[in-house]
Order: sequence, then C-alpha cells, then structure tokens
Amino acid sequence: MLVFFNKKALKLTTVFLAIVSLLGCASSENSSLSPDKVTPVDRGDYYADNATQAISQDSRVKFLIMHYTVENETEAFKTLATGNVSAHYLVTEHPRSFHHKPVITQLVAEDKRSWHAGLSNWSGRTNINDSSIGIEIVNKGFTDNNGVRTWYPYTQQQIDAVALLAKDIIRRHNISPEHVLGHSDIAPLRKQDPGKLFPWRQLAEKGIGAWPDDATVNKYLAGRSPLAAANVLTLQQTLKQYGYDTIPQTGILDKDTRTIISAFQMHFRPEDISGNADAQTEAIAKALVEKYLTRS
Ligand SMILES: [Zn+2]
Repeated sequence: MLVFFNKKALKLTTVFLAIVSLLGCASSENSSLSPDKVTPVDRGDYYADNATQAISQDSRVKFLIMHYTVENETEAFKTLATGNVSAHYLVTEHPRSFHHKPVITQLVAEDKRSWHAGLSNWSGRTNINDSSIGIEIVNKGFTDNNGVRTWYPYTQQQIDAVALLAKDIIRRHNISPEHVLGHSDIAPLRKQDPGKLFPWRQLAEKGIGAWPDDATVNKYLAGRSPLAAANVLTLQQTLKQYGYDTIPQTGILDKDTRTIISAFQMHFRPEDISGNADAQTEAIAKALVEKYLTRS
C-alpha cells in the first residue's frame, strides 16, 4: 500500500516495478516456474515445481493388514529384514520403551511396498501389497496336537502398541474400517494369521477396524438359534459382497467355502470357527454389509 502518494513516490514505484518485471522475465523465460512462491526442487537434470498441489488426490494406501510371525523375535527380524518377504512394521512381544512410549520397528517406508500379502484378494482388488501397509506381530500362531489346535495369545503390551500404530496409520491414510484386515481375510485358503486370538473386537472398540452392531445382528438373526443351519448360497453371496472374492457361489458347503467361512469367523466370531454355515455367521455378515457397504 502506498502511503506517500505523491508524484516523486509514484515515479520511484514505477521504476521499481519495471525493474522487477524485467528480472521476472529474464528468470522465467519459457517457463511457468513460480520464483516468488517456492524454490523448485532440483532433481538433477531438471527442476520440479510443486508450489501448487491438486486438491484431487489421496493416499495409495487403502488397506492395513495384520499378521503373526510364527517365528520368534530374532528369527522374524532376520526373515523380514533380510529374506524375500517383509513388512512395514514389526511389533515384538514386549516392545521396548523410550521416553515412556513403545518403540515399534519400521522395516519399510510407508510409501514403498513391503512384501507381506502374497497372492491376495479383497473386494475386486488383487495383489494387496500394492495398496497396503503390513504389520507383523511376533506370535507363534498355533500348534496341533492329536487333532487339538492350541493358539498362542498376544501380550497386552503388543496389542496396545499395535493399537497406537494402527490408529495413526488409519488416520494418516484415511483407511476405511472394513479395509483393516487379517492376512487370513485376504488370502483365506493359504493363511490363518493373525489367528482366532487376535483381539479384533478390542481394537474396534478403540475405533480400529470394522465390527457389527449387536442390534443389527439380532435383526438379521430374526429369532433363529445362533447355530441353526443357514442357507449356504446366501452366506456365500453375503461374504463375497463383503469382500471375500474367492468364496465359491455354489450353495455347496465344500472345503474352500468352509475354510473361508472359518476365516470370517476368526475375525468376527472367534468363539466358533468351525466353518459351518450358521445363522449367527450369516447375521454378522449381513450386519457388516449394511453398516459398511450401504453407506450413502
Ligand atoms: Zn501373514
């Protein structure tokens, strides 16, 4: 703003503007660089001007995938750091503390792919490595003895650390609740992790991942006994609609169908992961579809 608006001041201002204009022309010849905004980034043989960022953009990360390592901490660290598989993060059984906060190992930057998912599918997407962040959690998984499967529990310390990490990742990448999944959800015929003791409900109560509302489950249960037989085709169709792309659509409770139903149960009804097509499983699946896939 010109406060001293007299002839002399006007003359000086005109000269000044003319010089600025000449300098501007000289420095931006045949270019749309904005020297008055941000210095362009030197990329070696050219400069990138990122002074203006488009409003139409979002994160390439669409999924957050949970795993258990099977291996102990030392073995898992070696495998994930130097083997032909990896994960973005590794959460140990008792994460060390630094300034009263847990320390979580990061092995891959979030803008890079880590190789944690393998052949995988969810809701029309394949190769979930391309669009996900993977968290490996140190846990032995399960052992089978005389037909009895024993699962190993997670420590509350590591679940607390996973919760802090997951919440932060979900917020920064704006990941939808139904896209926070286990390896067994996106590769159900190959994988069981993070297993039936992974506390999905506890995490959902902290705002991490999907969980059905009891009232909606009861609505779809419609007075049936929870373990009453459900229509197999209806359950297959509902699970496919929710995201389990590879479940057969045959109406037959074959081996693959059972395995995928069991994967779903490990996530949302861990008390019974028999793979039976029962009314409660169908009601949970329908409640999830209603809550997360029919949003206006
Ligand atoms: Zn896994």
